Amino acid sequence: MKVYAFEEAGGAARESEIRTPTPSGHEVLVRLTHSGVCHTDVHLRHDDTGALAFPIVAGHEMAGEVVAVGDAVTGVRVGDTRLVHPWTGCGTCAHCAAGRDEACADMRYLGMHRPGGYAEAVLVPHERHLLDIDGIDPAFAATLACSGLTAYSAVTKVLGAVGDPEEIVVIGTGGLGLMAIALLTALGRHRITAVEINDERLEMARTLGAAHLVNSAADSGEATRAAILDATGGGATGVVDLVNSGQTARLGFDVLRRDGKLVPVGLFGGDVTLPTGAIPSKRLTVQGSYIGTFAELAEVVDLAKSGRLAPTPIVRRPLTAAGVTDALDALAAGTVPGRIVLTA
Ligand SMILES: [Zn+2]
Ligand SMILES: [Zn+2]
Repeated sequence: MKVYAFEEAGGAARESEIRTPTPSGHEVLVRLTHSGVCHTDVHLRHDDTGALAFPIVAGHEMAGEVVAVGDAVTGVRVGDTRLVHPWTGCGTCAHCAAGRDEACADMRYLGMHRPGGYAEAVLVPHERHLLDIDGIDPAFAATLACSGLTAYSAVTKVLGAVGDPEEIVVIGTGGLGLMAIALLTALGRHRITAVEINDERLEMARTLGAAHLVNSAADSGEATRAAILDATGGGATGVVDLVNSGQTARLGFDVLRRDGKLVPVGLFGGDVTLPTGAIPSKRLTVQGSYIGTFAELAEVVDLAKSGRLAPTPIVRRPLTAAGVTDALDALAAGTVPGRIVLTA
């Protein structure tokens, strides 16, 4: 089978032919029809952490057809269409046993630690990482495995906070932020304020359900804070921060009302100084969120199957070595209006 691997840091993806793996035990071989492209892969390609061992077959938003199964596999048959939960752990520790592979200390994610979606097929270590996506566009389904799951795990953390009505603020409306707004709308939340520096993206946020739009570009922070407090009628019950710079973290914290919760998701990075007295006196919570569990992915897929989740914009490109390289170049340049999905 063909794989489209990065052979050295910063290089283009190169096509090579490898022996097609034969699944054993609980392993499942999935022929990829759709492979989403995540910004994480831009960092993998350039080895931003300096800790990677090349070659790497990246790509972790994978959907396709089961073409072979190991002798211990149950519930999945050749010919089935499946979405892959790529966040696989060791399979034996307490986290993995509890269905929290993404919290495993010995993570072995597909598309990072194991070969992933930039290939003709992927070897999935266990059938418990596969989900039925009958009835959903498989291109959209692929994006649920990382973008959808990350956004869902974050937004569900701010729901049900004390405060009626719930006033939710979403900071940053790139791919993840738009998905967060689509999910909040699907979950019946309509008091959503989108904060973003780009007017075009703010308009996309509106079409997906954001009631209030705040452009934070030309401002040191004070006017943005005032605009959010105005839009939310005095403060947010929940803030999901998809940027998570020092500046946006402070902004998110400052617009919380009593019992409010800030959920940092973005990996922009930075430092923040907080007025510590506000944390006890306003009973505030700060809870980070990073990807999500298999159970949460199943809930996102069910939401998509219900028809309530509006598909976010998808840009299709070919699943080839050039397709991988072009997609990552475009993502790095920030010129993509939506999620790129490579299609076989
Ligand atoms: Zn991702
Ligand atoms: Zn584990």
